[in-house]
Amino acid sequence: MTPTPDVGWEGSTLARLPVRHLTATVLGVGTIGSEIARGLAQAGFGRVCLVDPDSIEYRNQRRSALLKIGEIGEKKSDAVARILARSYPETSFVSLPVAVGDLGWQHLTKSDVIICATDSEGSRAETSFCCNCLKKAWIDCAVSSMKPVRIRISYFRAESTSACFACLLGDTHLAEALMRTSAVSEPCWASPTKTDSFQPSLGLTAAGIAMEYAIEWLDKPPTNSFGIEFSLGQAPAAHVAQYHQNKSCPLHPDLVGALILGPPEGSTDVDSWLGTVCRTPAVLVLPWPLCVLARCECCGFSSTPLARVGVFRQSGKCSRCQAKASILETITTIESGTSWSLRTFSELNLPDNHIYEVRSNGGLCSQFIAHS
Ligand SMILES: [Zn+2]
Ligand SMILES: [Zn+2]
Repeated sequence: MTPTPDVGWEGSTLARLPVRHLTATVLGVGTIGSEIARGLAQAGFGRVCLVDPDSIEYRNQRRSALLKIGEIGEKKSDAVARILARSYPETSFVSLPVAVGDLGWQHLTKSDVIICATDSEGSRAETSFCCNCLKKAWIDCAVSSMKPVRIRISYFRAESTSACFACLLGDTHLAEALMRTSAVSEPCWASPTKTDSFQPSLGLTAAGIAMEYAIEWLDKPPTNSFGIEFSLGQAPAAHVAQYHQNKSCPLHPDLVGALILGPPEGSTDVDSWLGTVCRTPAVLVLPWPLCVLARCECCGFSSTPLARVGVFRQSGKCSRCQAKASILETITTIESGTSWSLRTFSELNLPDNHIYEVRSNGGLCSQFIAHS
């Protein structure tokens, strides 16, 4: 079958854009994200990166036309890349089966379009943080209500004065999102229950609307953060809301150091790498807190997991008895000349293709600003 990527797009904004040379990244490839990926390929994007750490479960197959073709237990990103590559051979699909927090930022700086379609506030807050650091605009596509069905497409500009996703959360939701990814102590909120009344048609509709705006905003980037909510319950209706920055939102860091492309090989130790980018002693700023000490709640065994807090909180177990382990200590920076700095990037479980903030203790770092 010959793919016809331009069908339906003649005379549109898209037909004028040379999208064949563009890269898009889809964060979360469930019911909506997988259809967005299909839409991007159909629109002619040259490269589509698919980011999702989850595997296909039975309930995903009931909700998604695309995931239904995949195998139960297969990584969603692998399945969607494999299935779409057959229909759209001119697009290269890159499967990245990791959480947003484990994604090397080089993938984001190399993306012309970033669309988030994950199913949690935590991963949206992580996306906000990454994009705020990199000053990369991104689009969020979310089901904002199930009864009646509402879809919200948001544009986050990620400039220093514009609102991010976390700015819009109430204090409790924001604290909860941050607790899950960054705090040493356990969150005391119940985990959100997953809604199951999702239909494949909802994914298609949401993805179609998101694509339409993604293309429009690629052509004419908006000057502020805002969202459009579509009510699909009765007659289709749209409501536009301007977003304003929350001055106390902690996800807009003032980067003090230089943003520098990480080492090409994870086998490099932090000390040696810092030595190549900075002549004076320097500090590597970690993108997320790293759990460096945990204790088993059952047998009391202490371990050094070296895992991102968000990951450890979800799946951290005692290596001796497999019971749940609690975080006792985290670090957010690594100074040259310390015991942590003798470890390699791989040993510290730091992501590949990352961009790091490096602060020098006096003197200047060689500066490779990552903004594309
Ligand atoms: Zn914010
Ligand atoms: Zn134990």
